[in-house]
Amino acid sequence: MLSVHQLAAFNDNYIHILLDEAAQEGVVIDPGDAEPVLQAVAQHGWHLTEIWATHHHADHVGGAPKLQQKLGLTFSAAGSDARRLAGIDRALQDGDRLRLGRYEAQVLAVPGHTSGHLAYWFEDERRLFCGDTLFALGCGRLFEGSADEMWHSLSRFKNLPGETLVYCAHEYTLANARFALSVDPGNPALLKRIEEARALRDKGLPTVPFRLDLELETNPFLRADRGEMAKALGLDQAPAEKVFAALRKLKDDFK
Ligand code: ZN
Ligand code: FE
Repeated sequence: MLSVHQLAAFNDNYIHILLDEAAQEGVVIDPGDAEPVLQAVAQHGWHLTEIWATHHHADHVGGAPKLQQKLGLTFSAAGSDARRLAGIDRALQDGDRLRLGRYEAQVLAVPGHTSGHLAYWFEDERRLFCGDTLFALGCGRLFEGSADEMWHSLSRFKNLPGETLVYCAHEYTLANARFALSVDPGNPALLKRIEEARALRDKGLPTVPFRLDLELETNPFLRADRGEMAKALGLDQAPAEKVFAALRKLKDDFK
């Protein structure tokens, strides 16, 4: 089994450590802070070899230099970010394949939140590491991309198998739930999902990872191509990109 360990960082970030236990090899995804990673490594005796970054924001790569220096990790990130992200050892692009022991991940370019945003897709293991592109019941803000680009990026995820486990980089679920309810109040799957998320958070447990098929039924941003979502926004017959753009704008202004 590919094992995944989740570390909490800052207010609501998740750092994920992936291990091939048999091969004694590990990768860390989005180490915004080096400390929790160094602590976990010291505690468990893991042998990490690489850092994979989803995008250039400090809460995802801030710990990379220290981990490169202290643990000798190789730093892989989007080649298109090489000018603004120091210390990249391996420049990645869409379609690249990365190995972790016996496992293989495919690099997906998913611009929108940032122009160089990447996701890591383990097809055989049905696991997706998507950074700040897709969140439970939400999606990333459009800092460097257009709504069309983000919709296209999310559409790549929509086509993955329903049983895929999605590991996003923030615990935003309950905050996103408030907005989702405001635009999709009559969705019974959404109501049930929010109850489950509340129960987890009440116990101090993460809502990440989550299943993609559940997301397709409850995340308003992934449902921008559904007639009922267009209708709810008064955009009947509008293309999905338009509905998505309207949803993203509403969420940006949502209090
Ligand atoms: Zn970000
Ligand atoms: Fe972030």
